[in-house]
Amino acid sequence: MPPATDPDHPARVLHERVAFVTGAARGIGAAIAHSYARAGAHVVLADVDVDGVGRLADELRASGARAEALACDVTSTEQVERAVEHTLTRRGRLDVVVNNAGISARIPAEHYPDDALLRMLDINVMGVYRLMRAAARRWIATGSGGNIVNLASYAGLVADPMSAPYAASKGAVVQLTRTCAVEWAEHRIRVNAIAPGYVRTEMTRATVDTEEGMARIRLRTPMGRPAEPAEIAEAALFLASDASRYVTGHVLAVDGGWTAQ
Ligand code: NDP
Repeated sequence: MPPATDPDHPARVLHERVAFVTGAARGIGAAIAHSYARAGAHVVLADVDVDGVGRLADELRASGARAEALACDVTSTEQVERAVEHTLTRRGRLDVVVNNAGISARIPAEHYPDDALLRMLDINVMGVYRLMRAAARRWIATGSGGNIVNLASYAGLVADPMSAPYAASKGAVVQLTRTCAVEWAEHRIRVNAIAPGYVRTEMTRATVDTEEGMARIRLRTPMGRPAEPAEIAEAALFLASDASRYVTGHVLAVDGGWTAQ
């Protein structure tokens, strides 16, 4: 078996590709960045947490991978457009975008305030759409094709009490994924989503760190545990690579069986 740094190594499925990951400072985004970098991609780490992505980019470069950090707030069309343009100018190509940045909140539906609801939709839906649009427009103009991986959620597929706006936002991600996959297939742009169950990250700490929260996860998850971020990153690697070249418009549940019941 050739060494992992060898471009012909079978694990280097993203060799020479450029991947752009939002919300990459921690959690699932950081795990995806690690996985893509190991697979040979040049990874652009975008986040509002500039220090966080800076540290991760340093760490990845120190291990011999190719990575750079970029400040990008997905609520700003201007910042998203500029980040995509910057990547294309500096790297000469953009192959994969991962719409991972997202927020969640557990509030009874009857009490959700307008401003919190609008912010959630701005990040979780508009943020995804802004980057899909920015990348696709350029891919269509050049005919290069491209690959989009969106982070949806089990909550976008089945009811998730106390999370109505989050669930609605992830349902929107599911439909953006399917609709744009069909619309852009002729341009060789693939669009897929991952629908994780509970994943052990900062986002879910309040649930995963309590006995009551873990009891709920165990009750709803046939596999009886939350996922680790690396387990979601494996699915994101599959969707970004040629191993999934005939897969588009698909929502891949990586949820320990949550939505199978
Ligand atoms: P985390 O909260 O751990 O990390 C999210 C990252 O996104 C943070 O670095 C955060 O920065 C950043 N971010 C937030 N808002 C913006 C913005 N406007 N622009 C750019 N970056 C931003 O989340 P997870 O890793 O847990 O989740 C990642 C994705 O996976 C989300 O879309 C989430 O909905 C989805 N998901 C997660 C599940 C889970 O159980 N964890 C389950 C199902 C889906 P900062 O905090 O500094 O603002």
